[in-house]
Amino acid sequence: MQINQISANADGFKSASEVLRKGELVAFPTETVYGLGGDARNDLAVARIFAAKGRPRFNPLIVHVNSISAVQKLVEWPEQADILAQAFWPGPLTLVLPLKPGSGLSPLVTADLPTLAVRVPAHPVAQSLLAAFDGPVAAPSANPSGRISPTTAAHVMAGLSGRISAVLDGGPCEVGVESTILGLADAPTLLRPGGLPVEALEAALHGPVARHSSDDPLTAPGQMASHYAPDARVRLNAAETRKDEVLLGFGPVEADLNLSPAGDLTEAAANLFHHLHALDAMDAAGIAVSPIPEHGLGRAINDRLRRAAAPRP
Ligand code: AMP
Ligand code: MG
Repeated sequence: MQINQISANADGFKSASEVLRKGELVAFPTETVYGLGGDARNDLAVARIFAAKGRPRFNPLIVHVNSISAVQKLVEWPEQADILAQAFWPGPLTLVLPLKPGSGLSPLVTADLPTLAVRVPAHPVAQSLLAAFDGPVAAPSANPSGRISPTTAAHVMAGLSGRISAVLDGGPCEVGVESTILGLADAPTLLRPGGLPVEALEAALHGPVARHSSDDPLTAPGQMASHYAPDARVRLNAAETRKDEVLLGFGPVEADLNLSPAGDLTEAAANLFHHLHALDAMDAAGIAVSPIPEHGLGRAINDRLRRAAAPRP
């Protein structure tokens, strides 16, 4: 199956939504990374997402819709969800909330959990596709499971060629790391750091957000130790390169590629996966990475880099 590359215009949104309606898969840009979309109500479409990615079935998917009212049809809606949705949607925030009975979603989406992860993405192409389709779209990142996430249509084509029907090309993703996932089924809990800094959530909620403990059962695939892995081995907090390594820099260092010479974490997040893909293509044995500060978007960047560096299964 050749991937059909669809332009982001009215005709393209219509044909992409028809692909979804048939139960087939379309990759599309969001502000975080490219998502691999399928009709969240269609068991076959959702099964195809897991198959195309080679993703374990126990890893639930995020459902994307284009309005708060569409979200409220799927999940219970506590006051804290409303505060955060008003403040940060559309945007790079996923909320995990109790699933409503009669939501109509395929049970494969939630991996049979009683909760659902939902998001309203801000990217205009994602918004237009969701409006044209007018239904919930399950969409994990559009890459083979465990590998580097895609931030361009070319990354999607390279990773999933032959396995999906179409990709909507919307240019490079602006945020560049996945959404922040916040659990709200109990006390607010950070399940995955991401494109919205946890500090912003705490400010909006006027209180602390608990951190997920590694003793808790796995609720997000991004929590698996090895993830986002390039072919090259990854070494963190590197002051300089060793033999057969290329350097992924941050700040004022001589590097093969630099996430942000000025030390700007927003710029670094936007460049992270793109630079990892590019360095991996250089075929070095290893990728050394400069130290990156652990605050704001730096938490999401370091989280992805630690998993890229973790021992492989
Ligand atoms: P991906 O888009 O590939 O980054 O994966 C989607 C993320 O949403 C994963 O980290 C999922 O585990 C997470 N997720 C989806 N549903 C739930 C849920 N019910 N509870 C917790 N995390 C979830
Ligand atoms: Mg992913």
